[in-house]
Amino acid sequence: MKYYSTNGKAPLATLHEAVVKGLAGDRGLYMPESIKKLPQSFFDNIERLSFQELSYVVAQAFFGDDVNEEDLKRIVYDTLSFDCPVAQVTDSIYSLELFHGPTLAFKDVGARFMARLLQYFIRQEGREQVNVLVATSGDTGSAVANGFLGVDGIHVYVLYPKGKVSKIQESQFTTLGKNITAVEVDGVFDDCQALVKSAFMDEELNKHMKLTSANSINVARFLPQAFYYFNAYARMKELGKSENMVVCVPSGNFGNITAALFGHRMGLPVKRFIAANNANDIFYNYLQTGKYEPKASRQTIANAMDVGDPSNFARIYDLYHGDHALVSSLISGATYSDDQIRDTMRKCFSDNKYILDPHGACGFRALSEQLQAGEYGVFCETAHPAKFKETVEATIGAEVEIPERLAAFMKGKKQSVEMAKDFSSFKDFLMQE
Ligand SMILES: *Cc1c(COP(=O)(O)O)cnc(C)c1O
Repeated sequence: MKYYSTNGKAPLATLHEAVVKGLAGDRGLYMPESIKKLPQSFFDNIERLSFQELSYVVAQAFFGDDVNEEDLKRIVYDTLSFDCPVAQVTDSIYSLELFHGPTLAFKDVGARFMARLLQYFIRQEGREQVNVLVATSGDTGSAVANGFLGVDGIHVYVLYPKGKVSKIQESQFTTLGKNITAVEVDGVFDDCQALVKSAFMDEELNKHMKLTSANSINVARFLPQAFYYFNAYARMKELGKSENMVVCVPSGNFGNITAALFGHRMGLPVKRFIAANNANDIFYNYLQTGKYEPKASRQTIANAMDVGDPSNFARIYDLYHGDHALVSSLISGATYSDDQIRDTMRKCFSDNKYILDPHGACGFRALSEQLQAGEYGVFCETAHPAKFKETVEATIGAEVEIPERLAAFMKGKKQSVEMAKDFSSFKDFLMQE
């Protein structure tokens, strides 16, 4: 399978090239040249398949041309070492719980898959080591670091701004050791990002070591997110509730919902989609007006969705050839203030005894408002509420239990390399690695 750029000005890439490059040379996002439809027989029997089994079928459609069967199966099964179940919240609304992975958020799925696929390509090339550089303001770093943890042949450097990420977040990438190095930069997130960018452009450094990124727009992180939508359908079908299924995705950079739309293109029987936003309402406005007008992001309590210019809009636009009527008939929008998000968390807890995190709350509320008679709704619970413990507890007035795997990070010993924010210090450090 070849991959083209949404900007149309870069040469076609192989999967291997698209994964190593991340972003196309013309700064567009890679798209697979074709999206294979899965046969009706697959959907007829899907409820008999486990999450791993059905994901392997989906993975074959995406990656089967480029990765041999045995390796692909191992990559998929290794990636999905945890479940993505649906949990009932109301009579007609179910939560697709995407927080059972190592860092308690859905980004674990894509990060784990990408780590294993990259390892496969490194071995094929006969290369010894590839180095992943990632700048983080909190959550991306932990998903990437844990996704790559213990994967032979890959070393990860996580750059984060000193004193600017929460203790819980920091512990998730500074206590790992092994092939993960946390670099604590005396600066802000933008300084970390600038260091990573300079490193990719530095010729001498790139001769010294093979560098790559693990951006969320990377096809190897983005496409595997389709797996769990197929699982949602399978599990709802088991319950006899898969007809007229509506899928609602709390969205920020729009990678997660775009993966769901890819699933739909492959034949997944979802009736319609809802993109639930916090106060960052760029996509909501696009649906209403047909105009895409990025703006500066606004800070909210659902902060992983504080995005003012969602990258994956380019993929949605490409998928539907810019047909606004088509997009707005398939996807509806929603946008909520922090107060509305808090009200939703409170009400859902008192009515249903289900604890939402601030992101999932946007999804639950959009379904509560927009679901019609005869429809069943599934929203993505994109993170465990314990990741936002203070906000959630202050809102619902009850304690949120911290899962064992999160508590374990917090008990670990912090290891980090302190770094000034100028590039020469960072380069000197990497040249000695
Ligand atoms: C990243 C993230 C989102 C947003 O997902 P996109 O793919 O960027 O739309 C939502 N919730 C949580 C908890 C996240 O970490």
